[in-house]
Amino acid sequence: MAGIYIHIPFCRQACHYCNFYFSVSKGNKSRFIQSLLKEIELTKDYLEGDPIETIYMGGGTPSQLETDELKIIFEKLHKVYDLGRLLEMTIEANPDDLATEKVAELSSLRGLGLNRFSIGIQSFRNEDLKYMNRAHHAEEAVLSVKKVQDAGFENITIDLIYGTPTMNNEQWYENLSKAFALKVPHISCYGLTVEAKTTLEKRIKKGACLGVDENQSATQFSMLMNEMKANGYEQYEISNFSKPGCHAIHNTNYWLGKKYLGLGPSAHSFNKAARRWNVSNIIGYAECVEKGHLSFEEEILSASQKINEKIMTSLRTKWGLNVAECDPKSAEQILTALHQIEPSNFTFENETVKLTDKGKLFADAIAARLFI
Ligand code: SF4
Repeated sequence: MAGIYIHIPFCRQACHYCNFYFSVSKGNKSRFIQSLLKEIELTKDYLEGDPIETIYMGGGTPSQLETDELKIIFEKLHKVYDLGRLLEMTIEANPDDLATEKVAELSSLRGLGLNRFSIGIQSFRNEDLKYMNRAHHAEEAVLSVKKVQDAGFENITIDLIYGTPTMNNEQWYENLSKAFALKVPHISCYGLTVEAKTTLEKRIKKGACLGVDENQSATQFSMLMNEMKANGYEQYEISNFSKPGCHAIHNTNYWLGKKYLGLGPSAHSFNKAARRWNVSNIIGYAECVEKGHLSFEEEILSASQKINEKIMTSLRTKWGLNVAECDPKSAEQILTALHQIEPSNFTFENETVKLTDKGKLFADAIAARLFI
């Protein structure tokens, strides 16, 4: 089974913390869509005929496209692929795009397989939204989820961000309570990170706003894990929480090492042997595709890179790292390195390493210690 990711590189405005590839100008939108349709043709053999289980349209902001444009893209996928075994089709949408009429239009895409919304809430508080330079306000955040629910979509995930300096622990607790009140089956929560070259980094350096307090962020992550548990959500990946049976199939397949094809500028693809990523530029992307070529960089993964990716991703999940699935030499190295790690950070049963709640606070550092 395999997945398809489609990157829609347009946003209403630039969030200060964002380091994804996007443009706030829609001048090249038609050209992008024509190129995307052509790229779908050009890459049709990449997944070697594996059945498509999931389609995820992210970005950028897919809800910035007109519904007719989305329809053309999904129809093209149906034309090129047999989607008879599709389980999940997700579209990312921002609250400011989800007017009642737009939600009604998007509902018409159900017939093409759309069955899941990922809504970029980030916070239910105007102060945090302003700090992040999000395009929506707090009231829209709540209403957008309700509108999608009223349109009959149950499979909804929302994104939240913690560690914002404008939000104290009590306010984070209130944000989480608002999320639980919406009764969505899936919530993704990310700690605010100050990525290099973002507007946020520049603003912090200039003293125009406060940076992230790592201790506060860690406290809010611990609160998050406790509150999720108390409200019946399972932490099946460090940043992802779901009600039983409602985990994201597409993202889980990334973590389980399944193949996926990425379409659109900056999109990544993986076929188990190599990873490749499209050029992060709409014009550069379109010029190549129009000539019948693809513009990407590729990295053939060495045996140790494959093991290290497995260590990094599986340790973040509830399934953990099954050492027996590694080659004997790597398994031995991992077990030796494991002895150097504080035992309260992990459990080891049935040859599988799993992080405890305490260990999840240091997941990346622990993974790096186990790397081959
Ligand atoms: S809407 Fe999403 S992709 Fe666009 S700038 Fe904001 S965080 Fe980045």
